[in-house]
Amino acid sequence: MQFRDLKRQYQVLKEDIDKAVMEVASDCNFISGRQVKELEEELAEYVGVKHCISCANGTDALTLAAMALEIGPGDAVFVPDFTFFSTGEIVSFAGAVPVFVDVDMDTFNIMPEHLEKMIQKTLEEGRLTPKAVIPVDLFGLTADYERIKKIADQYELFVIEDGAQGFGGSLGGNRACSFGDISTTSFFPAKPLGCYGDGGAVFTDDDQLAALLESFRIHGKGTMKYDNVRIGVNSRLDTIQAAILQVKLRAFREYELDKVNRAAAKYTELLKDTVKTPVIPAGYYSSWAQYTIQLDSREQRDSLQAALKEQGIPSMIYYPKPMHRQQAFADLNCSDAEYGNTIKLCDTVLSLPMHPYLEDSDVEKVAAVLCRCIQ
Ligand SMILES: *Cc1c(COP(=O)(O)O)cnc(C)c1O
Repeated sequence: MQFRDLKRQYQVLKEDIDKAVMEVASDCNFISGRQVKELEEELAEYVGVKHCISCANGTDALTLAAMALEIGPGDAVFVPDFTFFSTGEIVSFAGAVPVFVDVDMDTFNIMPEHLEKMIQKTLEEGRLTPKAVIPVDLFGLTADYERIKKIADQYELFVIEDGAQGFGGSLGGNRACSFGDISTTSFFPAKPLGCYGDGGAVFTDDDQLAALLESFRIHGKGTMKYDNVRIGVNSRLDTIQAAILQVKLRAFREYELDKVNRAAAKYTELLKDTVKTPVIPAGYYSSWAQYTIQLDSREQRDSLQAALKEQGIPSMIYYPKPMHRQQAFADLNCSDAEYGNTIKLCDTVLSLPMHPYLEDSDVEKVAAVLCRCIQ
């Protein structure tokens, strides 16, 4: 059994993917080929925003967002404590300071009450200016944007949606990557929509921000590539990746998203009386980047993982360490006392195999081993 079966996906889509890749090879339009622009238009239309600017990866997408919003020294940026490292890393990379916020035990996403508490704490300390919040759509579930946007408005913060895992999900009928002043995603192969290498994209409705993002991603270009009006980076999605994503986006829209939702429903039906299964609140739709259960203790989690492994079932711990305990952030001197939920989750979560080509029989096998292991 595969944790995320990209080989199976390739077998199903092989004819179209091979054709798309060979077309780029024979046209030799490896950078900025027509497929890149076409894909950006398809993605913007799908997400429901005006502009999509593709780039080299999801981390660059966040960095470009920080550059466009002029996040830098003296700024505080609020980031969930339970996420992939990038979300906090890009804040420090921009010269600003990440302030970590605890997450909700049901949704794994940033907790609005704790966000407000950490903003107030930052204001009281008076060293940093609260500038932005980066909610993460963890495991495919969008964050609570209704409440986050109210808080962001009240304290005049920009919202940068980290939709690296959220692409395809929705809240109140609006799709992930449409909630931020700027929203970002990643096309790393294992994400809900992945390419065959690194890739990412930035989304915004704002014409001015879109123009800035376009410029920053190609060496701060002005009217053309050899007219440079600001310091930027080189962060492009290459044409082969765009061509592959065009094929994969079709499958994603037509059936893959539906299939992961059916697999998740089956897991939940079989597991809900034995372990804590993921909670999808009313109005939310997940793209199931991960199907993550919670056990009672680290010992129970680790022994379950070993038992699954013995039966040939892969599982992953996303994430084993809170952001505030990462050595890279040691100089921030964060206190464990603020992050009870994240600390607990790091000890008790386990992500099970999840992808659109998972069979009912696979889900049944995982559930059987799991239920035997946990009495
Ligand atoms: C994967 C991921 C990123 C980074 O994306 P890359 O394409 O790997 O750079 C950022 N944030 C989150 C939440 C992610 O899961």
